[in-house]
Amino acid sequence: RAKDATGQRICLFEEFMQREFDDRKALENDLRLAVQRNEFELLYQAQVDVMSLELRGLEALVRWNHPTRGQIPPGLFVSLAEELGLINELGHIILVAACTEAATWMRPLKIAVNLSPLQLQAPDFVQSVVDVLKTTGLPAERLELEITETVLLDNRERVVKILNELRALGLTIAMDDFGTGYSSLAILRDIPFDTIKLDKSFVRDIAENPQAASLVKLVVDVGTSLNKTVIIEGVETRAQHERIRQLGGPLSQGFLFARPVRASKLGFLHQAEQHADLIDDFSH
Ligand code: C2E
Ligand code: MG
Ligand code: MG
Ligand code: MG
Repeated sequence: RAKDATGQRICLFEEFMQREFDDRKALENDLRLAVQRNEFELLYQAQVDVMSLELRGLEALVRWNHPTRGQIPPGLFVSLAEELGLINELGHIILVAACTEAATWMRPLKIAVNLSPLQLQAPDFVQSVVDVLKTTGLPAERLELEITETVLLDNRERVVKILNELRALGLTIAMDDFGTGYSSLAILRDIPFDTIKLDKSFVRDIAENPQAASLVKLVVDVGTSLNKTVIIEGVETRAQHERIRQLGGPLSQGFLFARPVRASKLGFLHQAEQHADLIDDFSH
């Protein structure tokens, strides 16, 4: 009897695995088509000055508008694109779209674009960035490319060389999800970048927990003394915002200020007159 039950369980499990596998195969095929047809959309999330609440830049965050499954977040397809060898093509689509959009804004705000570490491995990556800036007309100074600590898994000398070539174009490099890897100090020493984006996990309980707040302050102070811009990610509450303000955090990004929005919601960036108070004007 027990054996029967086990047998049945295994059978159900196999069925489940088979379905997962079919799903995955279907998703793989869909993703190949999606890259050919460009079924992607970028959402834009505000980066604000903590003191004045003025808008300082926007981060582009990709979404896949799947014809039948609806909108799929990057957490569910970016790594698949990497596995399938589609990430360079997808990354190019994203970079072109982000720079094209930013070039239409009436204010010279920065646009931040996330990169997969695999994109840095492509031999023609730097040239492709040069080409995109040229064809879209976006000044290099307005582009920030976001990388993560996973770039350290590759040949470090090569990565450093490419980052320096990119910075020589005039654009800036941000270290995303800062603090979540295990080599933060080595990163500060070895990798040339301009902006620290402190991971949202460090922000969660800063309002209640003085030790958490000390850690954020430490990063703000280190970043500032190393002449880097510091962006605190994942600010969701007024209490967190007030604490960051006390700690002297320069820039913040989070749902408190604005959710990622479609380009069509950025109408205010296409008008000449400007609004300073982001909390009132930007979030819907
Ligand atoms: P990330 O670059 O660290 O982006 C921040 C993520 O945190 C975004 O999720 C954003 O919607 C979310 N977020 C922003 N503010 C808050 C907040 O206050 N609270 C919380 N809980 N979350 C917040 P999203 O859009 O789902 O993107 C997830 C990750 O996918 C990104 O993390 C990035 O690593 C990757 N990704 C997004 N767009 C691209 C892209 O165009 N190319 C590549 N290669 N990766 C991308
Ligand atoms: Mg990012
Ligand atoms: Mg992040
Ligand atoms: Mg991330």
